[in-house]
Amino acid sequence: MAKSVRVRFAPSPTGHMHVGNLWVAFLSYWSARHQDGEYIVRIEDVDTQRSKPIYAEHILEDLSWLGFTWDEAPTYQSERLDIYERYLQELHSQKRLYPCYCNRARLQEISSAPHQGEANHVYDGYCLTHEPTIGERPPSWRFHMENIKGSFLDIYRGTIDYEIQSCNDDIVLKRWDGMIAYHLAVVIDDYEMGVTEVVRGNDLLPVTGHQIALAQALGFPSLQYGHAPMLVDAEGYRLSKRQQSITIRDLQNQGATPERLWAWFALETGLLTKGDLPLSGHIGLSELLEITIPKKLLKQDTIKLTNFDIMV
Ligand code: GLU
Repeated sequence: MAKSVRVRFAPSPTGHMHVGNLWVAFLSYWSARHQDGEYIVRIEDVDTQRSKPIYAEHILEDLSWLGFTWDEAPTYQSERLDIYERYLQELHSQKRLYPCYCNRARLQEISSAPHQGEANHVYDGYCLTHEPTIGERPPSWRFHMENIKGSFLDIYRGTIDYEIQSCNDDIVLKRWDGMIAYHLAVVIDDYEMGVTEVVRGNDLLPVTGHQIALAQALGFPSLQYGHAPMLVDAEGYRLSKRQQSITIRDLQNQGATPERLWAWFALETGLLTKGDLPLSGHIGLSELLEITIPKKLLKQDTIKLTNFDIMV
């Protein structure tokens, strides 16, 4: 029997839910429901400095208001730290982890070249090849990568090739202050929660290979990935990074109903054209689930939104 499809939406509660989150929430929901699968919500609050419980609460409220339902109680990463520790022990015993005492200044120095401005996390393997220069603070723990040339089939974008370099791509799995890194939590949770499909923004494409390598080291089966276009404004700025990224709460405060908001969203993202909308000009999530999403739409790197005046 085929394994049942489980798709997750995994917001980080570091702010209010914005239109960029809504895009990923919708695409993952659409995918789950079209495959008769389950939809699960995971609150990624492992970054205790940036996450706030009130945002998690508001994200769940906003999702409900928009018409989403999920098939089991939301999971909170902050309640799963012992699970992450257990897997860290396993990686320790496989000798895949090593302590890193490099400070921030050194890390900045080595990652400033050659791709300035890119979000790369290049390391040089210093603490693997040198006697540790034990500093004042505890070490962070890095996962030692093997050289890998791999590929995976992205449901939106087709075959994606990736290359991982030993040392350069040795990612931190536990920070010196004890915080569990995003990569570790996400890989373990997707496995432990039986996730089969990951729909997320394509800003995470550069780290998918790292996550696949980590999952393989832990013996986890592979996942389906769908990396969705980023929503940008007229100047090309990502909505999530806009100074005033529009939140669902802002739109509610402008007087939007869920149906008005969905209609605006569907037109702006290109899910629907004006002619596809019901005469009322409004549409609910359950009706929007019925649509076929044009394949070409999701192949793009970005989708430009130009009209933020939702009530017009
Ligand atoms: N929590 C991440 C975010 O909100 C998503 C991580 C993922 O989907 O792998 O951007």
